[in-house]
Amino acid sequence: MASVKLEHIYKVYTGGTKAVSDLTMEMKDGEFIVLVGPSGCGKSTTLRMIAGLEEITAGELYIGDQIVNDMEPKDRDIAMVFQNYALYPQMTVYENMAFGLKLRHVPNDVIQSKVMWAANILGLTELLDRKPKAMSGGQRQRVALGRAILRDPKVMLLDEPLSNLDAKLRASMRTEIAKLHQRLKTTFIYVTHDQTEAMTLGDRVLVMKGGRMQQFDTPKNLYNYPDNKFVAGFIGTPQMNFFDGYLTKTGENVIISFDKASEKLELPFANLIKVNPAYLDGKHHVTIGVRCEHVQIVPAGTPNSLAVKVNHFEELGAETLIYGNVGAADVDNITDASTGIIIRLPAKPEGVEHDSIIYATFDVDHTYFFDCDTEDSIVPRIPVSNAFSVTVRADQIDLLGATLNLPAKVRDYVGAYLTAHSLTEFNGTANIPNDAFTLADQGDLAATVVRTEDVNGTPLLHLNAAGRTFFVLAGVTLEAGAQVQLKIDWSRVGINDDAGDHVVTPIAAFDEYHGVFVNYKTVQGGGSQIRYPEFAKMLEDRVVACQAEWDAKANKLEEDFQRTLDSVTPDEFKALLDQPAEQRKPAWDQLVAERKAQAQEELTLKINEINEQIAKTKAATKQSVAQLKADHKKAVHDIKANNAKLYADLKAKEVADYKQFLATNKDRDTIKRRRDEYHIFRDTFADQKNNALEQALKGEEMVFDNNLSKVKAESKRTIANLKKKIADSKEEAKRSVDPYTYLINAHKGELAKFDKERKAALYQAGLIFFFGIGEYRFPSTPVISGKLIQGLGTRVFTKNYLIEVPHDAYTLSETTGVQAVVNEVADYGERKFAVVSYFDSNGEEKKGYLLIDNIPAPGTHIFINFDITRSRITETGMGIRLY
Ligand code: ADP
Repeated sequence: MASVKLEHIYKVYTGGTKAVSDLTMEMKDGEFIVLVGPSGCGKSTTLRMIAGLEEITAGELYIGDQIVNDMEPKDRDIAMVFQNYALYPQMTVYENMAFGLKLRHVPNDVIQSKVMWAANILGLTELLDRKPKAMSGGQRQRVALGRAILRDPKVMLLDEPLSNLDAKLRASMRTEIAKLHQRLKTTFIYVTHDQTEAMTLGDRVLVMKGGRMQQFDTPKNLYNYPDNKFVAGFIGTPQMNFFDGYLTKTGENVIISFDKASEKLELPFANLIKVNPAYLDGKHHVTIGVRCEHVQIVPAGTPNSLAVKVNHFEELGAETLIYGNVGAADVDNITDASTGIIIRLPAKPEGVEHDSIIYATFDVDHTYFFDCDTEDSIVPRIPVSNAFSVTVRADQIDLLGATLNLPAKVRDYVGAYLTAHSLTEFNGTANIPNDAFTLADQGDLAATVVRTEDVNGTPLLHLNAAGRTFFVLAGVTLEAGAQVQLKIDWSRVGINDDAGDHVVTPIAAFDEYHGVFVNYKTVQGGGSQIRYPEFAKMLEDRVVACQAEWDAKANKLEEDFQRTLDSVTPDEFKALLDQPAEQRKPAWDQLVAERKAQAQEELTLKINEINEQIAKTKAATKQSVAQLKADHKKAVHDIKANNAKLYADLKAKEVADYKQFLATNKDRDTIKRRRDEYHIFRDTFADQKNNALEQALKGEEMVFDNNLSKVKAESKRTIANLKKKIADSKEEAKRSVDPYTYLINAHKGELAKFDKERKAALYQAGLIFFFGIGEYRFPSTPVISGKLIQGLGTRVFTKNYLIEVPHDAYTLSETTGVQAVVNEVADYGERKFAVVSYFDSNGEEKKGYLLIDNIPAPGTHIFINFDITRSRITETGMGIRLY
């Protein structure tokens, strides 16, 4: 069992198909995860990457705590079930299931008990002798499942396992797979294009489209809170009804108007509190969604209803689906698909026929809204921003019933606006992100907690101030009714006037830098050495330092070798070392021959001794096995005898009881009942007896199997250790004959390995990447360089990148860095930014917002540096997020 984690996973096939983009998700140990989406959306590719059958282009894949990107499929401890079963046709069911275990040299009796266990779970016991061709699709798939569970994998992968089966079989196999998962509690990852399968099987479901995650959530949340129109339409049958239109807020109500119907629906704003306020202006095109089960039929003339012209019905027994078109009041015979509506009712209403006009309302709590173009939900579960009506004067703002002082930078924006428009105040909207509020003891604003909503583990505060509900993410859960004080991060606040023009522009969460990566060699070669002398020097220093480090290691290796050589070389060999080669050789050979004879003798003795131990172990194992078998036989015998006795006693007692009853009771009805009872006892007696026996025998069988495999495994381990001892002794004998030559040869091997490592280290030292912005290069880190190389190989140097830097990741330098000039200090009260401008690689002037202490005076020329490890790095060509 294991968790599976994907971090920014991409798959680009040779030829350029981007099958999977930026997939980040964590599947918990033991979860049943379903990947669902239309054909070609990248489900199988994702599964195959987890299995190791497909290389990962960029990103990291973890199984448990281990990164497995480069691990062979066979080492990943996974099992996979495919839609086409992949059984061996010439083998029986038993052989098919046993095959993998045989390959792993599991003892036959253990294989047998395991196969019987799996066959029992999957209802295959009767079919063990059949060959696949004599079986139905469902049965074959059960065999494939059996084979997979016998591998006892950490993660079970299933690629559309039921898609070759007919609808009825699919439904029953679905239940079996769910049961199997409950029983095994292994992590299951299951791919299907069938949303019903996904919704019924998954603990959580990943909906994919075009290689991208659309939503990863529980089936319930997918149904109740779809993140976009695609998910809303994909989940649920029949598909959700969609209509295009507009939302307009008027006072405390919101009016929904439709492109293709003249009626309007009016809802209380309280029902739409989470709708992104930008969409309530009647100008943003939206899509309204409602499922067929959330449409009601009402009498003609009911306010807030839509006329629907009925087209046809489907009467399905327990329910009726009515197909019609909205806009019926305006146009005759509409056929436009965008007016189509499906309504689900328990039964067809009286008198409703083809071409009838009926009236429908929507359940407001189950009506969904999407941006018409992006198709994203405009009712996020965690609203990003809160829009407040405000009145702004030169240095103050009226917000949520309070009057607050504005910080200097906001005053600048407001002042410029007021002057340009010759105003002293204006009305507008302040957009404040939910995480731009912080709870404080002494805040600027007071609010009351309405409730804390748990959105998939994140506590979202619903607060109220001056009668207005708004949303704050503060990482805490608070009781309804609690009073809180809030501070506002003004650098994140945007203010528009009533015409929608920007007055105050917030600072984005990251500064953006475009640039390239270069390596040491590039900078060394050509003109760049001249352009970046300090940079080239720095790289050269790295290589020189690396060289020095490895030279020192080489010296130490050599010294150690000489010292060891001296200490292990016997004196009689040493005496020969001074002699000229032609004299030394015969004497040396002679010495070796003598020592060899002696060593051989010792070795033989040792090996004999070990072989004896092996024989003893084998004999002991045989005896233990025989003993276990005898014990088992006796246990089986005892179980049978006890069971027979127990049930014989039971039967005798029941018969006696019954006779006694007949003798002492006269009432016919009572006797009749007692007789029925007795007959039931008599009829089920054999079954009960057999069941009890079977249970007891199964238990004993398991204990026996367990003990047997323990004894055998222990014996195998002991023998393997002894055999290793023999090999070690042989090697040791070889070494002891001529330690001098032996060590020299060993040293050669060591040197070759060492040289390889040194070369790789030097290459790495020279490969330190630099991220170039304008004239300056930031050194990368080994971790980042490693990720880039892993993602793109040497193509890393031919691409362009976007680096997004958080404001608090900057430092200033007096000598090196991106050349910039301080424009101003943006004073947002608690936070003060140095606003700097610099020229990027394209020669364009850009701005950075640096959250640093001791901001230099405007006009000062500075060098800026940032911590690249805290930044986000995206390759801009394919849009691959690499870090
Ligand atoms: P699904 O399983 O959701 O149907 P796949 O993962 O099989 O989708 O495919 C995702 C995309 O990748 C599709 O556009 C498909 O054509 C493409 N694709 C799949 N396998 C390969 C391959 N070996 N070479 C090139 N493109 C592939």
